[in-house]
Amino acid sequence: MTSFPTPRDALASAALGGASSEAELALAIEGSGTGVWDRHVDSGEIRYSRAWKRMLGYAEDDTMSRIEDSYARVHPDDLAMVQARIAAHFDGRTEMYEAQYRIRCKDGSYKWIVSRGKVVSRDGAGRPLRMTGISHDISTQMALAEQLRRSAELLTNLTDDMPGMVYQYLQEVDGRASFPHASAGIRAIYGLAPQQVRDSAAAVDALIHPDDLDAYRASLAASAAALSRWQCEYRVVLPGQGVRWRQGDAQPRRLAGGATLWHGFISDITERKGIERQLQQLATVDFLTGLPNRRHFMQRMDEHLARLGRDKGERAAVLMMDLDHFKDINDRYGHAAGDLALKHFAAMLRLELRKVDAAGRIGGEEFAVILPGADAQQARAFGLRLQARLARKPLPDGARRIAVQVSIGVAGLRAGDGVDAALLRADAALYRAKADGRNRIDVAPD
Ligand code: GH3
Ligand code: MG
Ligand code: MG
Repeated sequence: MTSFPTPRDALASAALGGASSEAELALAIEGSGTGVWDRHVDSGEIRYSRAWKRMLGYAEDDTMSRIEDSYARVHPDDLAMVQARIAAHFDGRTEMYEAQYRIRCKDGSYKWIVSRGKVVSRDGAGRPLRMTGISHDISTQMALAEQLRRSAELLTNLTDDMPGMVYQYLQEVDGRASFPHASAGIRAIYGLAPQQVRDSAAAVDALIHPDDLDAYRASLAASAAALSRWQCEYRVVLPGQGVRWRQGDAQPRRLAGGATLWHGFISDITERKGIERQLQQLATVDFLTGLPNRRHFMQRMDEHLARLGRDKGERAAVLMMDLDHFKDINDRYGHAAGDLALKHFAAMLRLELRKVDAAGRIGGEEFAVILPGADAQQARAFGLRLQARLARKPLPDGARRIAVQVSIGVAGLRAGDGVDAALLRADAALYRAKADGRNRIDVAPD
């Protein structure tokens, strides 16, 4: 058998046997760097083109013509697959033979190639006589694919080990939303698997706390409209875990066609929120009675006064309260009993408060209340109810009952009042209540 097509014998159609168009095709293939081979099944002989030999680093005159040697060049890990595919094609189970495998070059290194071939003649019983095919080097593609696979693996490993969820969020023009990518952290963040949200974000929306859903959606809409960074703190309700806090941070960009795609990160901020709430409480709540402390109460007063300033129809009243002879309680029953009396008073006061009312402990045994919407007479009625409640329920102290009494000064808030002016008028009324004999209420004149 001659060597595989040189331009001359190709044109003579020696290799591909026949029409000159086939020979020209063989030349074109050869010129493109694709190797061509031609195998005679019975004799075990195989011929390779120059490009094929060059691909593996062989010279044109290197003899390589035995099928056993061909198989010996295939990487041991790929050999069984290659032989199985050839057998399948020989048996007529496949239209074409195709395999991607590693093959040893002349210098001993391996290259990835893809081979495709077809039986071109069979004997009367259908046994293959001759098979021809092409091979080309796909090492570069395989290296690129390997690099891509490694990058994807690196990304997955990095993001999957992060405490939180790395994700893509897609909002279509028609409003449909989905998470095309979500790292494994989605299990911890939403208790879901990535595939549950790949086509629709509905499973996530269903977990957002109902009170936060509007703000969550509005913040996304604003981010999409202005293409501004999305930052949102919101609660989720997770089965078996209850209410948890989440923080989202993502950057949007507009896709061709108008959809918006965010890349970002969701983290668990439940613990931080808990600490914030505790700090907030420490800063605003009186430890002994649980009522707002003086500073916080004054802020609430400011807010109410600001509302009064805006809305002339709005009114409110304030009560200043000071426990009577409290020093005596401490002296007679001890400081601990005095503390209990303060707590007892706060508990009785709370029972009188509506949701809109605000009360605070503004001094040792001094308390204040704002009653939005109330006038001075209604505030006086409030004070009377509180005094009656205290009279009915003295503080139990073992077998004894400690009477807790309070003097109260009431003032209606005036538009234009400052916090201090309003409290001063109530304080003056309180002073008169004390002077009148205690356990009384005095109303400041309008
Ligand atoms: P008045 O009827 O005139 O208000 O007399 P009073 O004894 O209540 O008033 P005074 O201002 O003389 O005494 C208030 C006392 O409250 C003094 C202080 O030791 C006590 N006191 C302040 N804060 C606390 C506290 O947190 N716990 C206890 N047990 N006592 C407190
Ligand atoms: Mg006092
Ligand atoms: Mg007092």
